[in-house]
Amino acid sequence: MTKAVEDYLVAGYDAAVEELKAFCRLPSVSTDAAYGAGMRAAAEFVADALVRSGLPTVEIVETGGHPVVLAEGPKVPGKPTVLVYGHYDVQPPDPLDKWTSPPFEPTILDGRLYARGVSDDKGPLLIPILVSRAFAEVGGGLPLNLKFLIEGEEESGSPNFDRAVESLRDRLACDVVVSADGAMWRPDLPSVMVAGRGLAALEVTVHGASKDLHSGRHGGSAPNAVRALTQMLATLHDAEGNVLVDGFASTALPPDPAIGEAIRSARFDAGRYFDEIGAERPAPLPSGKDLLTRQWLIPTLEFNGISGGYAGPGTKTVIPASASAKITCRLVRGQEPDAVREAIATHLRRVLPSGYRLDIHNSGPGTVAFGLDPDLPALAIVEDVLEPLLGARPLRVAMGATIPICGVFEKYLGAGTVFFSFSTSDEDYHAPNEFLRLSNFRLGMTAWTRLLKRIAEI
Ligand SMILES: [Zn+2]
Repeated sequence: MTKAVEDYLVAGYDAAVEELKAFCRLPSVSTDAAYGAGMRAAAEFVADALVRSGLPTVEIVETGGHPVVLAEGPKVPGKPTVLVYGHYDVQPPDPLDKWTSPPFEPTILDGRLYARGVSDDKGPLLIPILVSRAFAEVGGGLPLNLKFLIEGEEESGSPNFDRAVESLRDRLACDVVVSADGAMWRPDLPSVMVAGRGLAALEVTVHGASKDLHSGRHGGSAPNAVRALTQMLATLHDAEGNVLVDGFASTALPPDPAIGEAIRSARFDAGRYFDEIGAERPAPLPSGKDLLTRQWLIPTLEFNGISGGYAGPGTKTVIPASASAKITCRLVRGQEPDAVREAIATHLRRVLPSGYRLDIHNSGPGTVAFGLDPDLPALAIVEDVLEPLLGARPLRVAMGATIPICGVFEKYLGAGTVFFSFSTSDEDYHAPNEFLRLSNFRLGMTAWTRLLKRIAEI
């Protein structure tokens, strides 16, 4: 049965690429209201594709922002339920002059399809839809209960996603979520992502005098908010960049040992890393293992921007009345965003020099880190399916960035999320000339077919 489905997909490959191109022609930029028509067209495209894949229930559900597309396959009694997640929105195409072909005119070159959103997430998302269609056409129907939840606000921070999942929780009930979003880490190394860091953001403002002052008349006597702020910020790390805030990571849990294993076997080249980001190589050069550990397993406190006084051309002899810093922290399992922010606030209040006032604002609710249960059956199935197709058992890797959906699915559905995407992190998503390797689009169809078949056998 799986063979018939795989053969059907191979035979339909050219048509599948045309369908992907049609999807990519729709300019579905969620963050910019000027693309409203493209957003609606993309939601309808997804809904129509799901209908044509034989899913009996397909709905565009309003969320207050851009809608989600919800689909439910035929009931298959006694079989597990998989919820497929993806998103139909894309990043803005700017800067347009850096594209070698227009972002919404999909163009094939050297086995790659170039278009905005093709790698993140239109190509990877279309794969399970096409696979469902193949099961319906030649596979005797889907082998398990399959649902889809496709959102339209992933690229603008999913502001309505939490509420949408909460209100649809009964209909979304599932055993496991399989995300068609989230890229493979490296083109040369099969991997499956099992952990991501959380996020806490805050903005800190120090106030000195009630107005900016002349540095000749008041210099030496008046409080300088930039000086106070930078002195305070300098106490947050040691010279190696380790965070020195009491209670910052005291609740952090130890990482999944498999990730440590992946770090050891990943052969991450530290020198090349610094070259690629355009930074001087530090001396002594840290090991690649140390860098990956820092990117994946250690919480951070980063200054994202700092402002105060005059930063325009030339000179202005001013003593700034106030100065601000934007701070974000990437969190590991066990750290709570609010507790982390409170620890930082307590530290800053303690080191605030006298004669100054301090304001601290939280930016958004924050996100806890994500970590997949290493014993989740679907995770082993993902690895079993990918191993023969990619030529090696995938490494269980983490990522430094934050994936809020995993926490949302865990919270409302009690379900873990496995990542099963066929985009690769070097495919310039979020940048000009985004592309998808068509070999992975083809491979993904075989992989999804086998994945659904195998999960059905649990
Ligand atoms: Zn994405």
